Amino acid sequence: MEYEAVIGLEVHAQLLTESKIFCGCATKFGAPPNTHVCPVCLGMPGVLPVLNERVVEFTIRAGLATNCSVQPKSVWARKNYFYPDLPKDYQISQYELPICLDGWLDIQVEGQDKRRIGITRIHMEEDAGKLVHDPSQPVSYVDYNRTGVPLMELVSEPDLRTPAEAGAYLRALRDILVYLEVCDGNMEEGSFRCDANVSLRPVGQQELGTKAELKNMNSFRGVERALEYEIRRQRALLDEGGKVKQETRLWDPDQGKSFGMRGKEEAHDYRYMPDPDLLPLIVDDAWVERVRAGLPELPEAKRARLVAEFGLSEYDAGVLTASKALADYYEAVAAAGAPAKTAANWVTSDLIGALKAQGLEIGQTPISPGGLAGLLKLIEAGTISGKMAKEVFAEMMDTGEQAEAIVKKKGLTQVSDAGELESLLQEIFAANPDEVEAFKGGKKKLMGFFVGQVMQKTKGQANPKVVNQLINKLLGG
Ligand code: ADP
Ligand code: ZN
Ligand code: MG
Repeated sequence: MEYEAVIGLEVHAQLLTESKIFCGCATKFGAPPNTHVCPVCLGMPGVLPVLNERVVEFTIRAGLATNCSVQPKSVWARKNYFYPDLPKDYQISQYELPICLDGWLDIQVEGQDKRRIGITRIHMEEDAGKLVHDPSQPVSYVDYNRTGVPLMELVSEPDLRTPAEAGAYLRALRDILVYLEVCDGNMEEGSFRCDANVSLRPVGQQELGTKAELKNMNSFRGVERALEYEIRRQRALLDEGGKVKQETRLWDPDQGKSFGMRGKEEAHDYRYMPDPDLLPLIVDDAWVERVRAGLPELPEAKRARLVAEFGLSEYDAGVLTASKALADYYEAVAAAGAPAKTAANWVTSDLIGALKAQGLEIGQTPISPGGLAGLLKLIEAGTISGKMAKEVFAEMMDTGEQAEAIVKKKGLTQVSDAGELESLLQEIFAANPDEVEAFKGGKKKLMGFFVGQVMQKTKGQANPKVVNQLINKLLGG
């Protein structure tokens, strides 16, 4: 039997607010355990939550960027469960009436058509604390610094069909949230996490099969691998005449396998109820429009604009818009007067390569956009050759000096003066009459010999293009 995979993703994105969702505690990561806590996020009796307006604003931003409709009224709900990481014994979330509904995102897997993936909903909630297990001790610890850190959950429709599509969706969503500056998008550190739901059904069947939910993936590739494994597992099971069990499975990246964790029978009953401590959230049109007006250009629009405005290839535009900082850097180089395509080549290969080699981010580059433009203008003007430029570039990376200063210091200027080069060539021709005759007789390979002679005499500083033209002119090539 031929099966089709059906995949839906639930993404938790940690919001980049300074303070927690219902109290003034800092969200900053890495503080000593239980130092960013207060009676509210510790769930002490008699305290009341106060909603952080920025959390709402950030979620509206994400909703608009993913084509959702922002709801005028949404409701906070208590999700009840008992676990030591949750001091109140309930998590404040949104349930039946979330803030955003019915959005979509266009994704593209290389070599395939664009596909539109539905976004069911986005809601806000608070994070739980963190259990710390120390294998050398017979106890576990709990750190409540993360308790009350704001999260946004984005739930997709079961519209994805392959692990590659799931990866493309996640990367597109991550890029958007990072561009919006609402989430740092770091999967390894858990500020962008994904649970993946997957089922199989016979090709042609409408009804969905029974799904498994996969957890514990901490990279994009990990999500794809976990899905590939799960699809294989379910297919083998169905082929044997077995049935897929609805369950949650934990992915183990080292073994490349997932393991059943809890089945539907043991599924929690969260007893959701409206939170009586919080009023319904009212978002008026004016607020939505204010947020909309402040949205930055998103990756897809930026990519299209770089292609249209600068004549870049889709590929280069894709590389340059991988981060907003990189795209901004590139646009600043072009704005400083560098030829746009040359600038794209240098940024996507030389600059990115050099930064990677030194373990630097684009924000830490020693070469300013104006500095790189200066270098590229020297090549364009013929002052230095492309080869010299590589040397100058390396020096700029090391010292942060301007291209012109390095060129002057190293005496790197290229000799392009036709008169100067011509008299040099005449000397060379006079000293090598046999080669001149052979060249005239059709042995064009000797071009390299003459150019080499010129380079030797100018210590590599002659402009090879000008030398070539002169040789052809003088010897009638
Ligand atoms: P649950 O009640 O188990 O949380 P939901 O209906 O809320 O399930 O869906 C959670 C996620 O799982 C969504 O992203 C949804 O698209 C996806 N999903 C739901 N049913 C299926 C299915 N049969 N196969 C694959 N994905 C599914
Ligand atoms: Zn607090
Ligand atoms: Mg659900």
